[in-house]
Amino acid sequence: MERPRYRVVITDCDHGSVEEEKEEFGGMGAELVLAQARKEEDLIRVCKEADGLINQYALLTRRVLENLPKCKVLARYGVGVDSINLKAATDLGIIVANVPDYCVDEVASHTVAMILTLARKTAFFDRKVKSNQWDFRQGVPIDRIQGKTLGLIGCGRIGSEVARRISTFGVKVLAFDPYVQRPEEGIELTDLETILKKSNFISIHCPLNDSTRHLIGEKEFQKMEKRPFLVNTSRGPIVNEKALIKALDEGYISGAGLDVLETEPPDPGNPMLKMEKVIFSPHVSFYSEESISELKRRTAKNVADVLRGKKPHSVVNQEVMGRTRASISSD
Ligand code: NAD
Repeated sequence: MERPRYRVVITDCDHGSVEEEKEEFGGMGAELVLAQARKEEDLIRVCKEADGLINQYALLTRRVLENLPKCKVLARYGVGVDSINLKAATDLGIIVANVPDYCVDEVASHTVAMILTLARKTAFFDRKVKSNQWDFRQGVPIDRIQGKTLGLIGCGRIGSEVARRISTFGVKVLAFDPYVQRPEEGIELTDLETILKKSNFISIHCPLNDSTRHLIGEKEFQKMEKRPFLVNTSRGPIVNEKALIKALDEGYISGAGLDVLETEPPDPGNPMLKMEKVIFSPHVSFYSEESISELKRRTAKNVADVLRGKKPHSVVNQEVMGRTRASISSD
């Protein structure tokens, strides 16, 4: 049998199958190995002959990377690349690629679903009816959605998609995003103070970093004049959870829709678990059968592209370009 031209190792993954990945390498003479390795020694042993790696959670430390003499590309399933020592990869000329936009549709839909669920109180009524209480008055007041204002914190891919969808309900959209100059049509850029003051719904779509950790805390809740519903499908620690609980208790906000929390899963003693005006989902916004299939396919394609000499769709360590181990064509 002919020897495969390339060896690609999936360090680890929690998906049921790797069929999509296999298909992506079809016809290019690549051997795909699913290692399910997490320890440094195991990773070095199974990956040392690899031309490319696909990675989910296993930590690709400098020591691991220094022991992969043939490796040209590391492709992460998903957006974040915290599992990879980026500096080491760049020093070694290894391209790091990710898939930053595989679930925009899912997160935007989930966000709008949470806004509508809170505003129309559908989860609340569902619980009541199932406990034999058929009385719409239990849920009043319920305000009309049309004519209200949504304030976005972060107006990138997901924020803009939420804006597009919610505007079909007659909702006006404001956005605070220090890095966006020209937002999409229908979105009015403003400052954070105005978002807090004028919004009936506030939805968070910025990344978690040093400047966004606890961006929404006690001071910010106190400025929310319209008692908005707060939705967070971004990252839990952007909202100070202690301040959120206080704001719910004291009525600064009308309710919250949370797909993400400071601690996931929540502590069973978390008081929000008992609050009727809070709805939860277990960090599931990203998920659909289609988004996962697309993620698997596009992660494998990032590796296949590099092995074919093409720049992949999304390179995280751009500074590596021009001095990569792989020879990448310039067109
Ligand atoms: P994106 O990079 O397209 O947009 C993020 C926006 O946030 C950018 O426009 C950026 O300028 C802005 N931003 C950065 N710092 C800011 C700040 N201090 N204040 C306000 N805005 C700021 O990312 P995206 O694809 O829209 O994703 C947004 C976030 O959604 C991600 O960072 C991730 O944390 C989260 N996410 C969650 C899930 C989930 O399953 N719950 C899935 C995917 C993404």
